[in-house]
Amino acid sequence: MGLGANGSSKSTTHEIKFTKLFINGEFVDSISGNTFETVNPSTEEVLATVAEGRKEDVDLAVKAAREAFDNGPWPRLSGEARRNIMLKFADLIDENADEIATLEVIDCGKPFAPVRYSEVTISSETFRYFAGAADKIRGATLKMSSNIQAYTLREPIGVVGHIIPWNGPAYMFATKVAPALAAGCTMVIKPAEQTPLTVLFYAHLSKLAGVPDGVINVVNGFGKTAGAAVSSHMDIDAVTFTGSTEVGHVVMQAAAMSNLKPVSLELGGKSPFIVFDDADIDKAAELAALGNLVNKGEMCVAASRVFVQEGIHDVFVKKLEERVKEWRMGDPFDLATNHGPQNNKQQYEKVLSYIEQGKKGGATLVTGGKPIGKKGYYIEPTIFTDVTDDMTIAKEEIFGPVIPVLKFKTIEEVIKRANATIYGLTAGVMTKNIDIANTVSRSIRAGAVLVNCYLVFDRDAPHGGYKMSGFGREKGLEALEHYLQVKMVASPIYDSPW
Ligand code: NAD
Repeated sequence: MGLGANGSSKSTTHEIKFTKLFINGEFVDSISGNTFETVNPSTEEVLATVAEGRKEDVDLAVKAAREAFDNGPWPRLSGEARRNIMLKFADLIDENADEIATLEVIDCGKPFAPVRYSEVTISSETFRYFAGAADKIRGATLKMSSNIQAYTLREPIGVVGHIIPWNGPAYMFATKVAPALAAGCTMVIKPAEQTPLTVLFYAHLSKLAGVPDGVINVVNGFGKTAGAAVSSHMDIDAVTFTGSTEVGHVVMQAAAMSNLKPVSLELGGKSPFIVFDDADIDKAAELAALGNLVNKGEMCVAASRVFVQEGIHDVFVKKLEERVKEWRMGDPFDLATNHGPQNNKQQYEKVLSYIEQGKKGGATLVTGGKPIGKKGYYIEPTIFTDVTDDMTIAKEEIFGPVIPVLKFKTIEEVIKRANATIYGLTAGVMTKNIDIANTVSRSIRAGAVLVNCYLVFDRDAPHGGYKMSGFGREKGLEALEHYLQVKMVASPIYDSPW
C-alpha cells in the first residue's frame, strides 16, 4: 500500500487521507523517504503506510515552529484573535466528529460510540474552554517594598514539544494543543507510532481553522528516533510527555542534558478503588467494571487495584462478575459495542502475560482470562480475586481489561496499602460515611480522589500525578502554566508620596 499524491492511502473500508508529516502547513514526505505501517487492531490488517520522521525531520519541524514563534503572527495576535481561530477549530472537530471517531476506531481499536460521543466531544469542548482563556492571560501588579513600580507579564514559553501515547490520540491532542495555542506557543507533536492517523487529521483541520503555518507541526515516527529528537532538541523550549513511567525517565534526562527545558510528565498509574462495607454495592460494582474496562482498560487512571472490605467482599465480587459479563464485544461501529481489541500486538501479548502471571501467582480467576476469536487483539474482560499486594498484577500497570480484587479489614490498613505503590494518579472511594470519605481523600497520595464516582474528567478539572505518575497538571487553567513564562518588569518611581 503506497502513499498517494497528498499521502493518502486506502484501507479496505475507509480512505485514509493524511499519512505524511505535517511541517510548516504542508503534508510532506520524510527526508529519508522511510515509511512504517499502522495496523487495524480489530482485523490485524495494515491500515496505512505512514511517513517516518527522524531527527532531520524534527529539525525541520522545529525550524518552522521557531520561525512561527519568533517572527510569525501567532504569539503576537490579540487573545481574541487566537480565541476565534480556536473556536473555529472546535467547530471543525464537531463537524468532522464521525471521521475522527472512525479513525480512532480503525487505528486504536476503540468502539465507535464512546469515542464519538465522549472523547471527540471532549476534544472540541477542550478547544472551547482554552479559547475562552486566550484573552484572559494576565500578569499582576506587585507591591514592592521600595519606590519601585513592578508588574509581571505572562509570556508564551516558545516552541513546545508534545509527545503523545497511543491510548487516546484525539483526546490527548486537544489536552496538549489547546492550552499551548491559547498561550501563544508554537509546537512540534510526536504522535505514538501505533496511532498516528487522528493527529494528522487534526493537523489538516488546524489549517482549515486558520492556525498559521508553522504553529502546529506533526512528525510521525518512533520513540528512540523522532521522540528522542524532540526531548533532546536544543531549540525546543518545553516538553510535555504522556506515556509510560519508564520513558518518562528518559525524556526528563534528555531534557536535562540538552537545554534544561522544563518538562511535564503524565505517566502510569496503579490506582486504588476502595469499597467500604457501607457502600452502595451495585454502584461500586458498576464503577469498578467501568473503571477497568472502558477503552479496554487502556487507561492511565484505570481502577486497577479494587480493595473491598471483607464484610461485603463475596457479594461485591458476584455483582462485579454480573456487570463484567454484560460487557459487549462485536462490530466496533455497532453503537451497542463497548469492548474493543487491545491497541496493538505488543500490548495484547503483554496483557495476556499478566493474566498468566496472575494465575501462576496464586490469584483466583473468576471470569475471563483468554483471548477472544482468531482475528484481532481481543481479550476477555477478566476478574481475579484473592490478589495480594506482593503479586505482580497488584503492583504493575497492566493497561488491559483485567480487574484485580484485594480484600481489606480496616480503614487504617487500606490507606497504608493503597499508598504502597510507586504511582499516585487517581483513587476511588465508595462509602456513605462522610468521615471515611474525608479521611481517605486526605490520606491518599494521588492527583485526584473520586468519592462515590469514578472516571470523572472535565476540562476544568486539573489532571496529573503524584510520585512516579509524573508532575504538572493538564486540563483546568492550571494547564496553562506549562506554556507560560513569568517576566517581572520594574522601574523606579521618583517623588512618589507612597
Ligand atoms: P510509551 O512511553 O511507550 O510511549 C509514549 C510516547 O513516547 C510515544 O509517542 C513513544 O513513541 C514515545 N517514546 C518512546 N520512547 C521514547 C524516547 N526514548 N524518547 C522520547 N519519546 C519516546 O507509552 P505508551 O505505551 O505509548 O502509553 C502507555 C503509557 O502511557 C501507560 O503507562 C499509561 O499509563 C500512560 N498514560 C498516562 C496518561 C496520564 O495522563 N498520566 C495518559 C495516557 C497514558
